[in-house]
Amino acid sequence: MTAIYQMSLTEMSHRLQSRELGVEQAVSACLERMEATEPDIGCLLHLERETALQRAREMDAAGPDPEQPLWGVPVVIKDVLATKDVPTTCGSRMLESFVPFYDAEAVDRLKRAGAIILAKSNMDEFAMGSSTENSAFALTRNPWDTERVPGGSSGGSAASTAAGQTPLSLGTDTGGSIRQPAAFCGCVGIKPTYGRVSRFGLVAYGSSLDQAGPFARSVEDAARVLQVIAGKDAKDSTSSPEPVPDYIAALAERDDLKGIRLGLPEEYWGEGLESDVDGVCRSALHKAQELGAELVPVSLPHSPYAIAAYYIIVMAEASSNLARYDGVRYGYRDTSEKELTRMYFATRSKGFGREVQRRIVLGTYVLSAGYYDAYYKKAAQVRRLVREDYQRALQDCDLLLAPAAPGVPFRLGEKVEDPLQMYLTDIFTNPLNLTGLPGLSLPAGLGPETGLPIGLQLFGPSFGEEKLLQVAYVLEGALPDLPFPRGVDK
Ligand code: GLN
Repeated sequence: MTAIYQMSLTEMSHRLQSRELGVEQAVSACLERMEATEPDIGCLLHLERETALQRAREMDAAGPDPEQPLWGVPVVIKDVLATKDVPTTCGSRMLESFVPFYDAEAVDRLKRAGAIILAKSNMDEFAMGSSTENSAFALTRNPWDTERVPGGSSGGSAASTAAGQTPLSLGTDTGGSIRQPAAFCGCVGIKPTYGRVSRFGLVAYGSSLDQAGPFARSVEDAARVLQVIAGKDAKDSTSSPEPVPDYIAALAERDDLKGIRLGLPEEYWGEGLESDVDGVCRSALHKAQELGAELVPVSLPHSPYAIAAYYIIVMAEASSNLARYDGVRYGYRDTSEKELTRMYFATRSKGFGREVQRRIVLGTYVLSAGYYDAYYKKAAQVRRLVREDYQRALQDCDLLLAPAAPGVPFRLGEKVEDPLQMYLTDIFTNPLNLTGLPGLSLPAGLGPETGLPIGLQLFGPSFGEEKLLQVAYVLEGALPDLPFPRGVDK
């Protein structure tokens, strides 16, 4: 029999509902798995052991609720999503002692669906980074190779799900922070269409780009989570009233890819791919063809400019969003200074890490009166061109297919001193956020040279999550099954 920690969300949920598995038993098994794996991967910032166990006992006593699709399922939440009465630090000293009095809408929906929060996961400070090394509190290691990064900024959630700490976790994706760590850790990760999931309680980084989404170990599991968190929320005016389809039912509608046109953007398949990425992703393309998909070459000609536009826009938005951390309203305050302006300076100099400060300074610069037209306005224009590229390509194809990252997970410390190198690691993920369209990252196999997981990305039309999930589900069935990561199962 599969160990409890190895169960998929779908299997665990089924066993919980049928009472073959007790909620306390499931929660205890996940807590044990956390204890066993944390010394190696360090992906959690805060554990809710006692409250989770108590909640589990109450649920066992009350019995299953078939109306709650995640009844009794343990979950991990990225520390950028507000959790009522549970610390929410955003990986920053600035919010080290912040305990929200409300839940983010996505978290609240998970809870209302019966899920139990076990822990908050590590992340790059305020979600700024691609390796989780910018966290103020902990170093997270990749469960496949503990000398390597798990990706970022949601590296804690990705590593946790990959290691089997819980069957699912939530992350956020502003420029790839779900899809890139999902690829690096061998999980499925979804960045929904902008507006599909409420941003209420998601601590803002780049508000026009941020979206929350799931990590899971299979497409079906990820679909179950998206089903719960998607939908209009009156508390977020940018959330969409577009009806939420039945994602799980949609999975059963196909068993091949006949009639599906998959666009291959030439800018993503050219030079510069590491050989493991190239090999594994190309063999996945053959599988797609064998399943009946038609592969169509497409071009997204503004891709080379997208990364620059992304970083200008995201830093501009961050500089404005992070202005609220002034030591007055909440969060850290430096009390050594008695004069107001000095207190602001001291608080922000000590409360924020280097990368966050760098971005606030650059963001303020690109928005300044003298440079706005040269940088921010240009970036906004490029954003439109990038969006038009994707829309044009998707008129002719059902979905687009690309590697999730140009390389395998890099070594800890390899890029952290070189911000530009770090920014380039999400060259394949951040253009999509400029467009608002949905994307899904799927494990395509292990690289023959490195033995590390390689992720394939699917991009879809606006609110096209159903099609994304369907195609990913069929493809997943033909791709190699990943074992549990060797870094934690020696
Ligand atoms: N690595 C990108 C950045 O630092 C994306 C981060 C994210 O998606 N949160 O901005």
